[in-house]
Amino acid sequence: MKDVVIYDTTLRDGMQGLEISFTLDDKLKIAHKLDEMGIDYIEGGFPLSNEKEAAFFEQCRKETFRHAKIVAFGSTRRPGTKAANDAHTRALLDAETETVIIVGKTWKAHVEKVLGTDVEENLAMIADSISFLKGEGREVFFDLEHFFDGYKDDAGYALRVLQTAAEAGADTLIVCDTNGGTLPSEVDTIINALPIESLPKLGGHFHNDCGTAVANSLVAIEAGATHIQGTINGWGERCGNANLCAIIPNVCLKMGYAPEVRKNLVHLTSLSRFVAEKANMIPDKRQPYVGVAAFSHKAGQHADVLAKASILMEHIDAAEVGNQRQILLSELAGKSTIVDKLARYGSFDKKSDVVNTLVKVLKDREREGYEYEAAEASFDLLVRKAIGMYTPLLTLKNYHLESFKTSETPSKTVGRLFLTSDSKEIMGAAVGVGPVETLDAALRDALGPHHDYLSLITLTDYRVRVLNPENAAAARVRVFITSSDHEHSWDTVGVNENIVEASWEALVDSLEYYYNNFVMTK
Ligand SMILES: [Zn+2]
Repeated sequence: MKDVVIYDTTLRDGMQGLEISFTLDDKLKIAHKLDEMGIDYIEGGFPLSNEKEAAFFEQCRKETFRHAKIVAFGSTRRPGTKAANDAHTRALLDAETETVIIVGKTWKAHVEKVLGTDVEENLAMIADSISFLKGEGREVFFDLEHFFDGYKDDAGYALRVLQTAAEAGADTLIVCDTNGGTLPSEVDTIINALPIESLPKLGGHFHNDCGTAVANSLVAIEAGATHIQGTINGWGERCGNANLCAIIPNVCLKMGYAPEVRKNLVHLTSLSRFVAEKANMIPDKRQPYVGVAAFSHKAGQHADVLAKASILMEHIDAAEVGNQRQILLSELAGKSTIVDKLARYGSFDKKSDVVNTLVKVLKDREREGYEYEAAEASFDLLVRKAIGMYTPLLTLKNYHLESFKTSETPSKTVGRLFLTSDSKEIMGAAVGVGPVETLDAALRDALGPHHDYLSLITLTDYRVRVLNPENAAAARVRVFITSSDHEHSWDTVGVNENIVEASWEALVDSLEYYYNNFVMTK
């Protein structure tokens, strides 16, 4: 039966993306997460490009991967050389991976203008490089760069490249839309015109410059491809690569392929967020399947329907991909919304005191400027307080901050605070640039010795919104903080006329949320 191989290139093509970079340690951790997800192949990088890339392969040899094969990336030999003596091909062997992937030219204009050689030598370079690597016992994948443009320009030559690579022994031939300009209908027509029966496995590699990389990948599979490449969160050069976070659930849930990944599909959302944290990128809330908005609904009628049958409003069950349904809270929040939200903690009746109390608390809070749509963690604490499932982490006695700046030195803030925690009185002090950073550091200074998990928590985003700018002097501000322990990410909110106090509130909520959800439950 036909199956589809999932090939990840986050650590190579994904790294070409704007603002994306990973340390060696990040790359190794991501590779293990991809392995746990059941990804078949993980492209680790270009071993010839720098020492960090070569070190990745060296480290991978010492580690065990359950399912995934690590792949070294390179290119065909240079014109006029022999693959056996070429630095590019040698670097691939030095990576000591079972599988290697090499990229070669398919578009005549690229052969002549970029490589500066003729079309026959290009074919010789492809044949020589593939057969040399095969002779060294490697599984060899061949990326046909600019395949679709090359095909449109000169189909005969593009087919000769395919045939040459097949005859040289390549195990999989990957047709690449390197500049991302091809539309799904063209992918369908071109792949259907290929002599697939006479070729080894066919794969697809798409970029998102037309916003159609995922669609192109699915069309390629329908037309006969059995290997698909992409990156987590769709990162990559320019507009990115095909997004595996959308391809994977589509392939597993809607097309019925990739059983190994299907088994681990519940880890997809956490994989997406894990990779985002490692890249220090804010996860895209509107990403299909894995974004926080993917299964979110405004309160009111929608939520009422959902409570009756989710199938009427959602295309899949959020839990299948490890995501969660979110009922967005607003002043319109109906009681059924609250009941649905409460389902995590137990079964509550619409008429119960808890539901009535929460409705009132929410209305009051929203009037003061709080918003819980993007602050689920603060909402969780409100619920816990209402149902008696809340354990306070700390009680503030006082904090004191002093910011100063001189004509010679930049601004600095000194702070100290006194708290009670676990019935002990404790004190913390810190020096930072701004007041929020200083408060955070002082809090950690006070609590750190008694709560070692705090070192796992980092603040990944901080946003401030002025609520009534027309009265700037007495304006209220709303602060959102996003925190992470590199596995989970959560948002908290604080509101006050004083930005420091609003930040303090969101900071304390962040730590208390973690304490109640991940520490007290252990
Ligand atoms: Zn690419």
